[in-house]
Amino acid sequence: MSRWLKSRVSSLSRISGYQKPERYSNVLRMDTNENLALPKKFVSGIMMKASRKTDLREYPVEQFDELRSKLSRYLSVPKECIAAGSGSDQILDLLLSTFASNSTATVTVRPTFTFYKDRCNLHSVKMKEVALNHDFSLNTKKLLSTRGAKICYICSPNNPTGNQFNKKTMLEVVRTFNGLVIVDEAYVEFADYSLKDLVRRYDNLVVLRTMSKAFGLAGARIGYMVANRKIVDLFVSTIQYPYPMSSLSLKTASIALSKLNYVRSIIKQVRKERERVYDGINALGLTAFRSDANFVLFEVGSRYKTVYRKLIRKGVLIRDIGNIGSHKGCLRVSIGTKFMNNKFLQTLKVVCR
Ligand code: PMP
Repeated sequence: MSRWLKSRVSSLSRISGYQKPERYSNVLRMDTNENLALPKKFVSGIMMKASRKTDLREYPVEQFDELRSKLSRYLSVPKECIAAGSGSDQILDLLLSTFASNSTATVTVRPTFTFYKDRCNLHSVKMKEVALNHDFSLNTKKLLSTRGAKICYICSPNNPTGNQFNKKTMLEVVRTFNGLVIVDEAYVEFADYSLKDLVRRYDNLVVLRTMSKAFGLAGARIGYMVANRKIVDLFVSTIQYPYPMSSLSLKTASIALSKLNYVRSIIKQVRKERERVYDGINALGLTAFRSDANFVLFEVGSRYKTVYRKLIRKGVLIRDIGNIGSHKGCLRVSIGTKFMNNKFLQTLKVVCR
């Protein structure tokens, strides 16, 4: 290995990499916010149909167009304002690596989806994190006064806190921030509003969305962004081409978008179950936080690691989050089927006795 290559490998190896979600056998997985409330049979059916309609010998060309049209109808946003990618992670990464240089600073909130910071580290881009207020609202003043920040990431609803930020506050950020505002709406189908319609008015706004959550297609890797035509054109023609997604995934996504009534009925069920899980956690004397996503964050205190481990031993895997400001020992549970949620609540009750 040349000296240059050795030194690059060595410095990149020091960056903390992706922590694979823990895998245990015989546990209910309620740790990664997928939509397991959507029956596997439904998703497999869509995939089988997509496979019958797909010829993998050919490069995906028309399938991109078809997906953009279907998304355009779903979102009521012109097709020219939509671009798709291999998961919203890929879109996030490409926007960062092409728009930022190592003299660009970025800003986000704390805590939030850690991928933003991980990718900034990888690309040697400085990131400033502004702590959320005690009630998990945005500290807009601090966020907007971050000197030199040119890219602002806001996850809304926020992962891991679960709350969607106040719409007026979000508008203020989009209007005032002097640079690109990326609003990650991965969980928006479970929430109350989207900023997608603002992209025509604000050309510094990119709204990121995914089919990994509400549509239950995390394994198919389908993300998309909604933005003004100039950014979308640049993304489609220059930043990301020619064939970043498989034709099977593209077709699967298009078919899923034609099953909206069913998907919406499951979303409704998840929202209802989320309130039941929230109440159930509070009834145990713990503090659950209101969520607008398909997961619930709750505060356990100093024994949270024990609670987390005991839950695994009894067959329920959730996410260990830790301290958030003065909220001590937090855990996050993804909403699943009624059966899963019951099992979680019953096991939590036993573990907390
Ligand atoms: N944004 C947020 C806030 C997420 O929580 C996740 C996945 N955990 C993603 C983006 C990534 O989504 P995708 O599967 O589309 O890459």
